Amino acid sequence: MNMKRIPLLALIGILQISCAPDTKKTVAANASSPSASYTLDAGKGILNNVHSPHVKFKSIDFGECQWTEGFWADKFKTAETKMIPYMRSLLTGDKGHALNNFKIAAGLQEGKHKGMHWHDGDFYKFMEAIMYVYGQNKDEKLRAEIDDYITIIGKAQRENGYLQTQIQLFDDREPYENRKFHEMYNSGHLLTSACIHYRITGQTNFLDIAIKHADLMYSLFMTDKERYGRFGFNQTQIMGLVELYRTTKNKNYLDLAEQFINNRGAYEVEETPETKGYPIGDMVQERTPLRESNEAVGHAVLALYYYAGAADVYAETGEQALIDALDTLWMNVALKKMYLTGAVGQAHYGASTNKDKIEEGFINEYMMPNTTAYNETCANICNSMFSYRMLGLHGEAKYADVMETVLYNSALSGINIAGDRYYYANPLRTVHGARDYDKMNTEFPTRQEYLECFCCPPNLVRTIAQVSGWAYSKSENGIAVNLYGGNNLATTLNDGSALKLKQETKYPWEGDIAISIEACKDEPFDILLRIPEWAVGSKITINDEEAKIETTPGTYATINQPWKKGDVIRLNMPLDINLIEGHSRIEEVRNQVAIKRGPVVYCLESVDLPEDTSILEAYINGDTKNLKSAYHPEFLGGVTTISGEVLLRKETANSTAMYQKVNQPEWNTFKTTFIPYFTWSNRSNEETEMSVFLPVIWE
Ligand SMILES: [Zn+2]
Repeated sequence: MNMKRIPLLALIGILQISCAPDTKKTVAANASSPSASYTLDAGKGILNNVHSPHVKFKSIDFGECQWTEGFWADKFKTAETKMIPYMRSLLTGDKGHALNNFKIAAGLQEGKHKGMHWHDGDFYKFMEAIMYVYGQNKDEKLRAEIDDYITIIGKAQRENGYLQTQIQLFDDREPYENRKFHEMYNSGHLLTSACIHYRITGQTNFLDIAIKHADLMYSLFMTDKERYGRFGFNQTQIMGLVELYRTTKNKNYLDLAEQFINNRGAYEVEETPETKGYPIGDMVQERTPLRESNEAVGHAVLALYYYAGAADVYAETGEQALIDALDTLWMNVALKKMYLTGAVGQAHYGASTNKDKIEEGFINEYMMPNTTAYNETCANICNSMFSYRMLGLHGEAKYADVMETVLYNSALSGINIAGDRYYYANPLRTVHGARDYDKMNTEFPTRQEYLECFCCPPNLVRTIAQVSGWAYSKSENGIAVNLYGGNNLATTLNDGSALKLKQETKYPWEGDIAISIEACKDEPFDILLRIPEWAVGSKITINDEEAKIETTPGTYATINQPWKKGDVIRLNMPLDINLIEGHSRIEEVRNQVAIKRGPVVYCLESVDLPEDTSILEAYINGDTKNLKSAYHPEFLGGVTTISGEVLLRKETANSTAMYQKVNQPEWNTFKTTFIPYFTWSNRSNEETEMSVFLPVIWE
């Protein structure tokens, strides 16, 4: 392949890109007026896949499902009243500085850029979170707030559509000079956020900015493959472009999204001026073309955003090679590289099986360290985003199982109960002295009030704010219940008929779900209830009569019949306390078990042990009869805890030796409490020890 490089300045000259931070010149590459050439689609889903030909489960419109009570209603309320106000104070103030960056680029304020290269993208995610809240509560102050941000962002955008404060505010940086500057990441979030803004508000002011920006991207990245072929570090632009295609029907954006997939892996893996700054090869999924990939590699966030984008492209194109690869990659993650909590990205630093250096990402299959697990909050969320797309493509419950596992465990663990302290990494065990936090930039001994690398917090808050949009999907002839929680649904089925449901439940703390039909068509249609893979022995009744419906765990139970107002479906899922062991090839959890009840993974935290007792001294009694669950409405935001017995190993003689002769240990029995993993590190401002997996003793 001809890898001849075009001198950078010559290229800049050809494209007439403005480089000075405060000047705005027009680029000849895009002559068309953006707002003149699009027709807008009416779909209002988080993914607007109403017309996507290869999607089995279509998104409901955002706002059609409203939380009413219980777990997700509470979390949404916290997002609305705590998480977003606190994040607003950070990002629009001097500490977070994200809005300042746009104001400076807009010429409204003096100052310098502050924050990571991807800070613009993280602000777009924060805006997206606000829009989801607006989509539920219709608080006009939020809409006005977003309009103010859009005005500033519009002023910061150059005439040619370029919009990247991390470049514009530096005299010595030029557009699309090096992929480490994360321009594609910021672009992707801009496009997605603008599409969501249009779908929820009906306004086009943000969309106009996104279109102008995407047209510039198209003019550059569709035509010049030599220079830009390997561009895109964290590729959210693929998802963003597909949503923009779905919103505007302009096929250029879909073509460009596909082009980014076609380019990746098509070029020689060597360091060039455009790739300097981060590891190359598997780190950015460019060693192997996606269609030939059979192993998830590299940075976990990069990989899963990329796969999620590819799933969006497949939804439109139906290309078999693409879905075959995505199926393989999803299985590789879910069966060989995922933690019990749904978390992914086992190592901060490591190597791929092709011997490429990687950061914050996947390593070997079944290599699942607990204490050093990286598990970036974003990566875990990306895992659920990829799964949500695969759920749409296949309509199979296993994808929603992963979404749910992530949501209740490794997503929520990234934020405290109060909604104002964050974790970036989500290990499954913490031990005093095991890690030198001074040498780390994203791992911390305690929850942090601000993270310099702020990608995770807005990603998590927008996810919490949008879960209602994931809760249901429209199946071919009915409605699928993907996630359980107290809510009202008012939607239209694919045939246009109105459907209203009311769901009542205390899930995930209780396993009873009641769904009442409030309005529906006369003809029979399907109601699909997801039976999670752990829900063995689930029963369904309809109007108090047992239904002859298969409830196979890990599938959707499909009920097809005529429905009428007043019908009540009840699903009972037994919420047993289960001990979980890992695959026998996961050496890190050999002879250990974790406690899981329903979708919730539990942990033991050192505040629930006698003073000065290490988590490493605690063993689980394998007799589950000693474990009891109880709901505590005032504890940790309202959770079910599990009380039970642990055995504490009495101190061994020489704990400093690497290896030592062992005698049969002596034990103290201690009555303790296991808490949901996502609630750990909420009861002490000091560093605590915690473990999901504990060694087990069977009597
Ligand atoms: Zn992150």
